[in-house]
Amino acid sequence: MKKAPQKQPPAIQYTIVPKDLAGHLFNVTVTVAEPSPDGQVFALPAWIPGSYMIREFARNIVRIRAEAGGAAVGLTKLDKHAWQAAPVAGPLTLHYEVYAWDLSVRAAHLDQTHGFFNGTSVFLRVVGQEARPHQVDIQRPGDPATRTWRVATALPEAGAKRYGFGTYIAADYDELIDHPVEMGDFALGGFTAHGVRHDIVITGRVPNLDMARLEKDLKAICETQIAFFEPKTKKAPMDRYVFLTMVVGDGYGGLEHRASTALICSRTDLPSTAAPKTAEPNEGYIKFLGLCSHEYFHTWNVKRIKPAVFAPYDLQVENYTPLLWLFEGFTSYYDDLMLVRSGIISEATYFKLLGKTVGSVLRGTGRTKQSIADSSFDAWSKYYRQDENAPNAIISYYTKGSLVGLAFDLTIRAKTGGAKSLDDIMLALWDRYGRDFYKGSPRGVTEQEVESLFDEVSGVRLKTIFDRYIRGTEDIPLAKLYAPFSVKVTEERKNAKPSLDAGIGRDAAGVKLTQVHEGGAAHQAGLSAGDILIAVDGLRVNGNPSNLDQLFARYRVGDTVTVHAFRRDELMAFDVTLLGDRVPCVQVSIAPGTRKGPAVKRPSAS
Ligand SMILES: [Zn+2]
Repeated sequence: MKKAPQKQPPAIQYTIVPKDLAGHLFNVTVTVAEPSPDGQVFALPAWIPGSYMIREFARNIVRIRAEAGGAAVGLTKLDKHAWQAAPVAGPLTLHYEVYAWDLSVRAAHLDQTHGFFNGTSVFLRVVGQEARPHQVDIQRPGDPATRTWRVATALPEAGAKRYGFGTYIAADYDELIDHPVEMGDFALGGFTAHGVRHDIVITGRVPNLDMARLEKDLKAICETQIAFFEPKTKKAPMDRYVFLTMVVGDGYGGLEHRASTALICSRTDLPSTAAPKTAEPNEGYIKFLGLCSHEYFHTWNVKRIKPAVFAPYDLQVENYTPLLWLFEGFTSYYDDLMLVRSGIISEATYFKLLGKTVGSVLRGTGRTKQSIADSSFDAWSKYYRQDENAPNAIISYYTKGSLVGLAFDLTIRAKTGGAKSLDDIMLALWDRYGRDFYKGSPRGVTEQEVESLFDEVSGVRLKTIFDRYIRGTEDIPLAKLYAPFSVKVTEERKNAKPSLDAGIGRDAAGVKLTQVHEGGAAHQAGLSAGDILIAVDGLRVNGNPSNLDQLFARYRVGDTVTVHAFRRDELMAFDVTLLGDRVPCVQVSIAPGTRKGPAVKRPSAS
């Protein structure tokens, strides 16, 4: 006979209810069974892991009070993120409201159509008790219109039925906040990948959504990635996985978690049953699948293989690491590669995407000033807080980081005659740092360990790549690196149209410069970001950015025109010598007669 387990109240218990849909308010309570005798401190994270910017989520807490045994308890604000309750003996409860009107994957959002939250936006951390089990009761809103709402999250159920409101459990605070929650009348699809259930949750209206195609394509991507990291056992690192997708008119983004991802995408990027069946996905759908592939790859790379400073995260301050090129850049390298390896896109399409990435890296002169190690370190104040000068000042550790991944891959393959590749390095990182991360071995990797592991596993001295392209700002010689593999990289500057070499946007005031590229025609003439363009050689710019192209189309590269513009409502005139596009159109292609390109297939068979 089995003894029934003793029923103990959980150490930390939350309730969350979408209280005011029109006012976008969640009501939250947290009850602490054994508050600190010195007065329990509570804090809301200042940032959400995966998005490296201080966001001060506590600013959305509208009202807060404490009580114990039915009596009010004093609450002192310690700083912008934290409160301390007066000392009490028994269970202590905090009641608070969270304003949720941020339609992004990073925070919380609530209205009559759905609710979404990340734990970092709604669950106050019980300071000092983070390692204890945390339980949360997710309650149905009172509004009768929400009778049909369901709940989607990878948080383990403890009483709640799958997709139901009710009680969920987490082993600790870190796990609690790593499972975003969606509620509403979402479309639900799913598949099994190497024995693990995967849910596809789609929020937002999508006429004729082709869920069957989505299931088929995502299954192929997920199985490819699981088999990549565990070629022998094909064992996924999680028990289940959820793709939480918010569909909007125009949007793009994703945030990775240990057993789920929160995504935002444009309606047009999802496949339609009404569209003609094509073998290869269209551009928008490739973009969406690439996003899914990226976030899914993070399940291994950054959610389990982590930089040492993320193990554990300090949720109140910036966590500086020079390694985001590895965690974001390599994830970007593999996201498209996994689309080819799973048969979703052709090698030719892959090379087209690669050409675009190379072009975007070459676009800004910021690449000559900031290394991707520095870009990683300063993500908090630079990459995540880009202003109009960003192309002239910074480099993306995503795009250049992905090209560095390719540089490592090609170098290792060339120097080992195809015996080794970047895959071996990812597998070694997984083996040494990732596989047991949530199994009592939470150790992250340091910069020094990364560099020595790369050399050791590949058997190739790779210091030059670290020095030149990671710590240094040199451009990656892709054509040279690809040469041994019969892959051609060509740069073309034909059809160079006369242009200002600036970012052009539009708002109520008219056509506006959004960015001025260093050394370009606009910069040389003295135009600035924010200038509103009025006329070119006396002809009106009619408020439509494409009209500007039409006006310039009557000139040659090298011609000088007078551009009138408003700055701070003052009319100014600039003599602009028009330049052609200085950034080449990069094309990558397999030389004729070559059967397979490198780096697309794993070097060893299967
Ligand atoms: Zn990422």
